[in-house]
Amino acid sequence: MKKSIELKAFCDWSPAGKDHLIISGPCGAETEEQVLSTAGQLTATNKVNIFRAGIWKPRTRPNSFEGVGEIGLKRLQQVKKQYGLLTTVEVANREHTELALKYGVDILWIGARTTVNPFSVQEIADVLKGVDVPVMIKNPVNPDLQLWIGAIERINQAGINKIAAIHRGFHSGNKTIYRNNPMWEIPIELKTLYPDLAIICDPSHIGGKRTLIKEIAQKSIDLGMQGVMIESQIDHDHALSDAQQQITPQVLLELLESLVYRTESTDNVSFNDQLNNFRNIIDELDEELLSLLKKRIDIIEKIGEYKLENKVAVFQLQRWKLILESRLSSGDLKKLDRGFVEKFCLLLHEESIRVQTELMNKR
Ligand code: PEP
Ligand code: MN
Repeated sequence: MKKSIELKAFCDWSPAGKDHLIISGPCGAETEEQVLSTAGQLTATNKVNIFRAGIWKPRTRPNSFEGVGEIGLKRLQQVKKQYGLLTTVEVANREHTELALKYGVDILWIGARTTVNPFSVQEIADVLKGVDVPVMIKNPVNPDLQLWIGAIERINQAGINKIAAIHRGFHSGNKTIYRNNPMWEIPIELKTLYPDLAIICDPSHIGGKRTLIKEIAQKSIDLGMQGVMIESQIDHDHALSDAQQQITPQVLLELLESLVYRTESTDNVSFNDQLNNFRNIIDELDEELLSLLKKRIDIIEKIGEYKLENKVAVFQLQRWKLILESRLSSGDLKKLDRGFVEKFCLLLHEESIRVQTELMNKR
């Protein structure tokens, strides 16, 4: 079910216009000194378009720092007054949203733990009816694209048309080097479904550690995302939340200066010719792959018939184990990524089982 989302063009409301949007600031607003000095140093980089700070922090366990609350909003007003920076905060319920609007926060964002809950998103949407404020919606904690789309639709149906999505990675159950698995295919699918929706990447919450931020930010640029939200503050080692993933404004500046922006397409004729050659080869290879898959399915059907005649079950664990092991070692020899080969074999196997089960059910 694809419902249309009515959006105002991102470049018409993004403070960066057509350029890459940079949002930065501390994970949480802690003290006046921390907020104002950080904002001052971020302004001095001349790169930051929006100042972020959490005022209400959703924490996994109680008794950790849960944000300073309303007083933080006053500090954001000071940031705006003193440095002219636009401000954004996370809102998770009716009260947060009303207060953020009352204090003139420029842009709201909905956090990953809120996007998972349609009741909370609707509560926020209800407060936003008739209000003209941009809203950025983080992906839900779990890798569920429909939930993400659902939250975007709820906010859009409240009349908000300045919307951006924030990709902050997913809890996937698999242990990876990331705090939250990026699963890039999910924001790519979102973009494919809603090409006008801007996606901003949050490398801080994907990476969970300083050392990963740059490569994640670069990857998001290479994938055509429209901006980054990166946590930064002057004294990150003493931060009350997310200390390992924050960087100083100076390091942020160096990081931003090292990012490479590539144009999506170019007018260079010989480049385009060569690219087309490569793409033609890919088209042919894909055609061959599909023909091979068709041949494989035909054989699978024969096997299915044969098993049926001889009253043999569809799934044989031993055979599946052998297939997986032999394909993985063949993939190793060809220097193919193991994870990729494994996923591919799983897909093939699932499809074989589906085809054979369907055969059985027809009888
Ligand atoms: C944050 O931005 O500080 C935050 C809490 O993020 P998330 O909702 O992505 O966990
Ligand atoms: Mn954080």
